[in-house]
Amino acid sequence: MKEFKVLGGTDHEKDKGRDALRREYEKNSFAFDGENTKSPQEIKYIDNANNYLSQEMSRLGVNGFEEIKPGQVHFLDEEAWDNRFPGDLSQGCDILGGVCINNEDVRKESEENGVNFELKRFIVMLHELVHFQGCQKFVNVGDTTYSYRHGYLAYNANGEEYHFKMFDEAIVDTVTGLVASNHASDIKRDFGINLEEWDELKKYLNYRGSIALVSHIVVKVAESEGCENALVWDEMMRNHFTGNMMFLRKIEKAYGTKALRLLSMIDFKKQQTKEEDEKQNRLRRYFLDETTDEEREIITRELLK
Ligand SMILES: [Zn+2]
Repeated sequence: MKEFKVLGGTDHEKDKGRDALRREYEKNSFAFDGENTKSPQEIKYIDNANNYLSQEMSRLGVNGFEEIKPGQVHFLDEEAWDNRFPGDLSQGCDILGGVCINNEDVRKESEENGVNFELKRFIVMLHELVHFQGCQKFVNVGDTTYSYRHGYLAYNANGEEYHFKMFDEAIVDTVTGLVASNHASDIKRDFGINLEEWDELKKYLNYRGSIALVSHIVVKVAESEGCENALVWDEMMRNHFTGNMMFLRKIEKAYGTKALRLLSMIDFKKQQTKEEDEKQNRLRRYFLDETTDEEREIITRELLK
């Protein structure tokens, strides 16, 4: 049976919280209203994604891979998606006990970018499965049990606002891209992708800009720790799965004590004001290689006043 890490309250309250989570988890393992039956091919893709991801997790030395059953993956057409997530325009999401894919949005996106729909959907599913495998911790607040950390993503006490959104997505997409590259020949065969199309794999990843930003952080941390970049990437990915947040301390050590607060504020909110956009640009700028220490001091002073 799935075990949940719940903090806060008496033992009785913790048990109550765990029971509620387990019920929610089990409910999400069944088909939603209007969800289509999966084709044998879709089931095969889920199977492959499990295999690919468990291999990468064992390479990283992570225990506790949780195989996802076909019933826990929900490929939803427009109506079924809108029923479940009204007004949500994302391509997919992970929920307690499963992942959901927005067929219509993935289709639109693949048409706009001229990429293969089936492969795009596979990559979106893989990305959501990496979220799903991320270490998740809960806390009791009053009568409700909230997620307060999932991978690197941290929530406020009301369970709504989050920190480290950009960083979390960048790590999840890094794992996704790595897993896909490691199984390039299988994926090319399964989806009928030719070499040139494969070279465009990056087009299938949604957080390319964030991965580029994080690569600056990796260089800086590797320098500060006196180790290879590859070791830093691995530790960063490993901690997403284990919930060990020591890596964040290394970022602090490399950049200075305020760096984590700045990193936690980088986000992708849509329809932001011009002011907020400017702030987000400054936050990103802080972590770039070419930014000087003097500039970092100015950014810190202005944004954390
Ligand atoms: Zn994501």
